[in-house]
Formats: sequence, structure tokens, C-alpha cells
Amino acid sequence: MEQYDYIVIGGGSGGIASANRAGMHGAKVLLIEGNEIGGTCVNVGCVPKKVMWQASTMLEMIERDAESYGIEADVKNFDFEQLVERREKYIDFLHGAYNRGLDSNQVKRIYGYATFKSDHVVEVNDVEYTAPHILIATGGRPSQMQIPGGELALDSNGFFELKKQPREAIMLGAGYIAAELSGVLQGMGTKVHWAFRYGQPLRTFDKMLAENLMQIYRDNHMDLHPYFVAEKIEKDDQGNFTVYFENGETLTGDCVIFAGGRQPNTDKLGIENTSVELNEKGFVKVDKFQNTTSEGIYAIGDVIGKVDLTPVAIAAGRRLSERLFNGKEDEYLDYDNIPTVIFTHPTIATIGLSEEEAIKRYDSKDIKIYHSRFTPMYFALGDYRQKCDMKLVCLGEEEKIIGLHGIGVGVDEMLQGFAVAIKMGATKKDFDSTVAIHPTGSEEFVTMR
Ligand code: FAD
Ligand code: NDP
Repeated sequence: MEQYDYIVIGGGSGGIASANRAGMHGAKVLLIEGNEIGGTCVNVGCVPKKVMWQASTMLEMIERDAESYGIEADVKNFDFEQLVERREKYIDFLHGAYNRGLDSNQVKRIYGYATFKSDHVVEVNDVEYTAPHILIATGGRPSQMQIPGGELALDSNGFFELKKQPREAIMLGAGYIAAELSGVLQGMGTKVHWAFRYGQPLRTFDKMLAENLMQIYRDNHMDLHPYFVAEKIEKDDQGNFTVYFENGETLTGDCVIFAGGRQPNTDKLGIENTSVELNEKGFVKVDKFQNTTSEGIYAIGDVIGKVDLTPVAIAAGRRLSERLFNGKEDEYLDYDNIPTVIFTHPTIATIGLSEEEAIKRYDSKDIKIYHSRFTPMYFALGDYRQKCDMKLVCLGEEEKIIGLHGIGVGVDEMLQGFAVAIKMGATKKDFDSTVAIHPTGSEEFVTMR
């Protein structure tokens, strides 16, 4: 049986990062990937999503905003198929870059699905491998809609397979992906109907964000349908889909997309042959050091169901390898204050506690909220005056900033620096003592009264 120091199952964001770091420290590493190198983020996640978001943003700028600057511009043609081809070419380039990185750290790769035969024996393509340290970094996949005709809805993987732009799309779901893909399609000129089960989408975020997003999407002619619970999907002979809702309403279009969360890739992993425990939803149970319940087996990234973001999987994977192969015994990822951006139109940026969470967790008299609502200068010259909303959630007399939230043009690129300050424990006074940069949107975060 081939013996390694470290076997990594899953060549996505977390697995690659951890394998490279272990290789850098001289470990003999085997990386096993069942599909394409790069995993969700590179192939069917962040990367193709951001490309589509950029294209959609550009179209919006030309068609909606350019006129206010005296620019007469028409989009002569938008070739969706060409955009998809170029996007996939870029992804191929990234595959090459990842492979070169792994080569430079002497990480051996095998393509095929791995299953555990026992705690420290893994089988791929009928060959067994062993190592004292094994990482589960198998990520997740989109959940399917459990209603009659649910299989007719595309998931996010299916969205990235589209070669033709939908004319009229029905979006079902209420999280990151539904919010992002609704905006992408709307900006590209598809008529979008976004249906969600409750009064607003993005319910786990600060309320201000969804309230403003809904207003802005409506102003841009998207149809929003709160309290719409889908019960059945049908397809007719012309290829059109009708979604039936519990309230008796129906929506029809040439494309239905369902984005209602993801499930872990742990069901075909032979977990039952190990002493690794899963939680009730099938995610791998880990402690703060990413140790599973089986000694020498670890898990990171989406498969633990904690914070499903690429930089989180990468950071956890690297820290784990530092601990295992570079003697840093206390190295682990702190999951508090992780910044995140939702690539809506405009973007949403958020870190820390929402106002609602802060009030639940602390005495409400200890929480002070600062809020700013303004028209970014980008929209100053036209009739369309999209707003930007920003909020600081502060705790106690010293006004420690425990939440920072924004929705508006450019907030995606503002957040990273503020996240450093918040991670360091910044207070409102620290923000106040920082001189603003003018004229920018980010200056509002340091000038709130
Ligand atoms: P993955 O990247 O999913 O990698 C897991 C790998 O394991 C896969 O390649 C899979 O083929 C492989 N695998 C599974 N089972 C086996 C097996 N038995 N044997 C061998 N290989 C196996 N995050 C952000 O930070 N920013 C974004 O903008 C963003 N946008 C997103 C957009 C979409 C549409 C989606 C779906 C996700 C997005 N994410 C984003 C989330 C991000 O993609 C994930 O959090 C990240 O990819 C998780 O990395 P991972 O290593 O845990 O898993
Ligand atoms: P999310 O967990 O973000 O949201 C899914 C939401 O869909 C649920 O909270 C629920 O909201 C709703 N939902 C669930 N089931 C149904 C159903 N049967 N019918 C209708 N609505 C339903 O999942 P996503 O799939 O959007 O994204 C998965 C994860 O990927 C994200 O959590 C994020 O971590 C990551 N991601 C990150 C991105 C980024 O960083 N920009 C972009 C995309 C994904 P409710 O209860 O209100 O109905």
C-alpha cells in the first residue's frame, strides 16, 4: 500500500491550500480529486459568478448610467455565449495555475473518488493508500428542491452550464446565490421574478441590507414575490416552465433556478467505515483545531457546514498544515468576525453582528447604532439616484465596533480594510480619529454622527 504523510481528499479551495502548505513544509502529500481541480469556487462558484457579475455590472453602467454623464452609448450586441466561452477559457487557465502550484510543492495528484476503507486507509480507482494524517475537504453540492417537478429547476451548477441567456427567469431561494444570480440576470436584461418564502430574503443578515436590496431591485424592474412558497413545477411543450405556489399564484418563464442552500459531500465517502462522526445534517463534526472524532482525521471548508466561504476553507486548511507539519501546535482559525461580500447589484458588505443579533446577545441599552444613507456621487448627475446605506453596530461605553454593514456601489472593495480594524478591536473613537478620504463612499464609515 502506498504510504504518505498526508492524504487530502478534495482538490477545492481548502484541500489545495492545505496540501500546498504541507508540501512546502516537506511533507509527502497525496491530493485526491474526483472532478476538476479547483473545486466549487473555481469551477462553479466564486470565479464564474464574479465574471458574470462584472459583465452584468458593465451592461448596467452602459445602459442605465452612462447617459447621466452625457455619454450616448448603446449596447450593439451582448453575446452571452461568447462571454461563457471566455469565462471557461479563464477557468482552464486557472486549472493550469493550480497544477503548477501543486507541482512546485511536490503534491502528488490522483483523479477519482476516494472512499474510506478504515480510519487510515483510503481507496481510489481500486488502489489503497494510507497516511497518519488524512484531511476531508470534500465540500458540498446544491440541495435539490423536494417538490413535484423540483428536478426541472436549475441549480447553481446548471446556471453555469447555460449557453443561452434566459429571457424570463424565476428565481427560488433567499440566500447568497439567489440574491446574486437574480441581480446578474436582471443586469443582463433578463426579466427576473424572484420568489422567496418569507417577507424578505437574506434573513440571517442585518435587516437594513435586504430592505434596501429589495427597493433597489424593484426600482430596476425586478419582480419580487415575498411569501411565495413553491409547491410544484411543470414544463410545457414549448419549453416554458410554470411554478405553482401555495398561495394560488403562478409564475411562468423559460428558466427556473433554485438556490436554497447546499448539502455536504459525505454520503459516498465510506464514513461508516471510520470513527468520524457527522451531525444530523451530514456535516463532519470538528473541534476548533479541525480535528474530527477520529484521531488523525481532520475536516475543513464547506464539509463542516460552518462558514461556507473560500477564504475560510483556505485559512483553515493552511493553519491545519502549519499545526501538523510546522510545529505550530496552537494554530487554528478563529471563526469570529469573518468579512463577507454578497455580489448583488449593488454589492452588500458585512462583518460581525447584525443590529438584531447584537440586541439579542447584549442588553439593548449597551448597543448604539450609527447609520448613514446617502446618494453616492456616481449617481449624482442623473435622475436615477440609487442610495448607499451603511451601519455601525457598537457595544458598551467604549463603543467597540461589533458589526459593520453596507449596501451600495463599491462597498465590496471597502470592507477588507475595515475588517482588519474590527478584527483588531477598533472602537467608534478609532474610526472618528481616522481622517476621511474624499470624495469616496468609504469616508462615510469614519464620519458617522
Ligand atoms: P470545494 O471547493 O467544494 O471542493 C471540494 C472538492 O472535493 C470538489 O472539487 C469535489 O469534486 C471534491 N470531492 C468531493 N468528494 C470527493 C471524494 N469522495 N473524492 C475526491 N474528491 C472529492 N465563496 C466566497 O468566498 N466568495 C464568493 O464569491 C463565492 N461565490 C460562490 C458562488 C456560488 C454559486 C457557490 C456555489 C459558492 C460560492 N462561494 C463563494 C463558496 C465557495 O465556493 C466555497 O465555500 C468553497 O469552494 C469551499 O471550498 P471547499 O474546499 O470546502 O470545497
Ligand atoms: P444560503 O444558505 O445562503 O441560503 C439559502 C436560503 O434559501 C435559506 O436560508 C432559505 O431562506 C432559502 N430556502 C431554503 N430552502 C428553500 C426552499 N425549499 N424553497 C425556497 N427557499 C428555500 O444558500 P445558497 O444556496 O444561496 O448559498 C450557499 C452558500 O454558499 C452560502 O451560504 C455562502 O456561504 C456560499 N456563497 C457565498 C457567496 C459569496 O461569498 N458571495 C456567493 C454564493 C454562495 P428562507 O428560510 O428565508 O426561505
